[in-house]
Amino acid sequence: MEQHFQKKFNHLKELCSQKGLRLTHQRTEVLRELASAKDHPSAETLYSRVKGRVPAISLDTVYRTLGTFMDLGLAAKVPVDGDLGRFDGDVSPHHHVVCVCCGAIRDFIWDEVSCGELPAEVTDWCHVTDTQVIVRGICRDCKGSDS
Ligand SMILES: [Zn+2]
Ligand SMILES: [Zn+2]
Repeated sequence: MEQHFQKKFNHLKELCSQKGLRLTHQRTEVLRELASAKDHPSAETLYSRVKGRVPAISLDTVYRTLGTFMDLGLAAKVPVDGDLGRFDGDVSPHHHVVCVCCGAIRDFIWDEVSCGELPAEVTDWCHVTDTQVIVRGICRDCKGSDS
């Protein structure tokens, strides 16, 4: 994971100098946390994790930093509804499966869909830039506890 962060960090450093953005300590720490998170954290979750190392950071800064990262293509928002927004430090093509009980989100790869052909209704109507599937269900942990 540290390696993943290092790659992202170098990318961020490059983008910041290109775009004239300051590579602040706070931005670096938000990126470190997001790059190492596997659970698609919300801004609030990231905030509470980063705050341990950077007590001066505010929730607002975390939101704005995430917005900047998304503009730069370093982060993505997971398109789940009924949520304040969950963030992904992995912007490579993948899909998500969401537990409707506890809100856990997991990644999965589905090449048949990612590389497959879409119906003409879609391709006639727009130029497709990416395809992302959200699968909803009840995870094993949640199912186990109520049955
Ligand atoms: Zn669950
Ligand atoms: Zn993901």
